[in-house]
Amino acid sequence: MTAIRRPPVPILMYHEIAGPADSTSHLAVPPSSFARQLGYLHDAGFQTVTAATLAEIMNGGAGRLPERAVVLTFDDGFADFYRQALPLLDRYGFTATLYVTTGWVQDAGPLPAGQRPGRMLCWSQVAEAAGAGIEIGAHSRLHPQLDQLPRRRLRDELRGSKAQLEDRLGRPVAGLAYPFGYSSAAVRAEARAAGHGYACAVGNALPRPGADPLALPRLTVRRSTSMPAFRQFTQSRNIPVIFGKDRALTKGYAMVRRTRAALGQVRRGD
Ligand SMILES: [Zn+2]
Repeated sequence: MTAIRRPPVPILMYHEIAGPADSTSHLAVPPSSFARQLGYLHDAGFQTVTAATLAEIMNGGAGRLPERAVVLTFDDGFADFYRQALPLLDRYGFTATLYVTTGWVQDAGPLPAGQRPGRMLCWSQVAEAAGAGIEIGAHSRLHPQLDQLPRRRLRDELRGSKAQLEDRLGRPVAGLAYPFGYSSAAVRAEARAAGHGYACAVGNALPRPGADPLALPRLTVRRSTSMPAFRQFTQSRNIPVIFGKDRALTKGYAMVRRTRAALGQVRRGD
């Protein structure tokens, strides 16, 4: 029997769903663009699965992917997910994965340092999203660059955020997204040891069969993403062309970061 060849499932990464009047971030996708993107996915016959479901099936678990599958992920836990994204997802019967930075939750209390990047979801809204079938994943406690942390803080960030989400939601948390997409072999090993079955990075590529489940690549949707570009990457076409510059930057920067981390270790060992 010949195995059926199917295109890899695109995993899309969103942040805020907000217009220019509400956010200056180039990653903030205006609600009107987001509505057009979901409308297109629906009309083109896409069905959504959560990142956890995709990872499980890629790992040989039970279940089948729909003919045309796509994964919608949302990072950080911005409040507009509740106001803007959830009603539209519901309209099309779509699901999604929401990666929540637990220390940034609006009613999580004061931050030890810095400030929240915007108006964030509160715990009851996260719980409501979970109740509506949205997968809630981890995104660390305070959004550090995990690959630059000493082992103990890395462990605290990974275990603390997972435990807090599970306590609040009363359900297991299957995976995480690395803040900024940054990970290293040590970070991936700690994520696995913390009990995560999968993790999303950035990468701006498609997850290939046999891909490391602790480093699933995602495609960045940003304010400037046009409908033709959106259509092409959901159809798994021209990804290297659309993301050429991003991919080169990610690769080059990964090397710089590895060198920096290695130098840091040398210094700590002094
Ligand atoms: Zn983030």
